Amino acid sequence: MPGFEIFDDSEKQQVQEVMEKGFTFRYNFDGMRNDVWKARELEGMICETLQVKHAHLVSSGTTALSTALASAGIGAGDKVIVPPFTFVASVEAIVLAGAIPIFSEIDETLTLSPEGIQETLKTHPDIKAINFVHMCGSMGKMDEIKAICDQHNIILLEDACQATGATYKGQALGTIGQVGALSFDSVKTISCGEGGAILTNDSKIYDFAHQYSDHGHDHIGMDRGAETHPIMGSNYRISEMNAAVGVAQWKKLDRILDTQRRNKKALKDALSSYPEISFRVIPDESGDNAGFLSFMLPTEERTQEVAKALAEQGIPGVFYWYANNWHYLKNWHHIHQMKGPAKLPIDLIADRPDYSKVQTPKSDAIMSRTLSMLINLSWTEAQINERIAAFAKIFR
Ligand SMILES: *Cc1c(COP(=O)(O)O)cnc(C)c1O
Repeated sequence: MPGFEIFDDSEKQQVQEVMEKGFTFRYNFDGMRNDVWKARELEGMICETLQVKHAHLVSSGTTALSTALASAGIGAGDKVIVPPFTFVASVEAIVLAGAIPIFSEIDETLTLSPEGIQETLKTHPDIKAINFVHMCGSMGKMDEIKAICDQHNIILLEDACQATGATYKGQALGTIGQVGALSFDSVKTISCGEGGAILTNDSKIYDFAHQYSDHGHDHIGMDRGAETHPIMGSNYRISEMNAAVGVAQWKKLDRILDTQRRNKKALKDALSSYPEISFRVIPDESGDNAGFLSFMLPTEERTQEVAKALAEQGIPGVFYWYANNWHYLKNWHHIHQMKGPAKLPIDLIADRPDYSKVQTPKSDAIMSRTLSMLINLSWTEAQINERIAAFAKIFR
């Protein structure tokens, strides 16, 4: 997954161009920037590659989620379905919007299941939106998910922060619902150092997005001081230096995806010969971003044993999410307590869920048996073969 592995002179040259000819701020200063507009350039590249009408860069994937929620009209008191298996940011963005996260079950796609969503709708018929997280580079059952959203008038927000470049039936993840979010943080498929993007085909959502992430500025004309402010917002802007890194990285997206797919296939083919292993269900395997190889073992005990054995064989980058602090609900004690530094909007909602009691048994049954292996870009053939040799010692 990590684009930083192939940083070279091209990223440096892009940043240097900003420092020598351009300006650090993404808007205005037309007279001093010699027509260097890195954020605009990267936004144009994203729109073209992902075939989406609008892409708006912000400071992170998390602020992209916050901006996407607000711009799609999701705010105080609104209920938003979210999976128990995700990075905490997907939940934090909902809580900080004043909205209410409602946890729903995942299936063996490792993303929200249509059945789980239907089940949640029985107890919460007033769900406003789904934050659909494309975990570990691939998608869920998007036709069924989209149909449920359309049927119940639910906004589909896609957290595609881990799935840059992935597609479902030819459509980029992040562009299937009304609005999507990408992350370009230091360890993602494309890295700007820090950065993120909001994707949408809806011009109204786009206008709110660029306004909201820049204090409500309308971005009309060349005089920032004379702009009007249709809404309030905040500062979630990306800097030109970060965007410049992204311009160089985005040009490598095809190479990154090709390498990941090739490396992942070699490992997956090798693991396929062991009957105790089953794989994450990927509804459109040709669109997988291939940043991770996720597989399941028959029992929780065996999974722990295999995780330990892989570590002992010196294989890094193997994640047992079920036991980790950052990616699974079970261990998010601060979220069970809804703990912020100060009183949160959700504290004013009398009938909010008691998050210390939320149960997701179907997801537990899957995640307790799932391991994910990070797919690196820099692996040599010998390093891939070392992994395959280690598998032979461990798997039955
Ligand atoms: C990385 C990530 C985010 C947040 O992105 P940042 O750029 O680190 O703020 C959100 N959701 C998921 C699923 C992620 O993996």
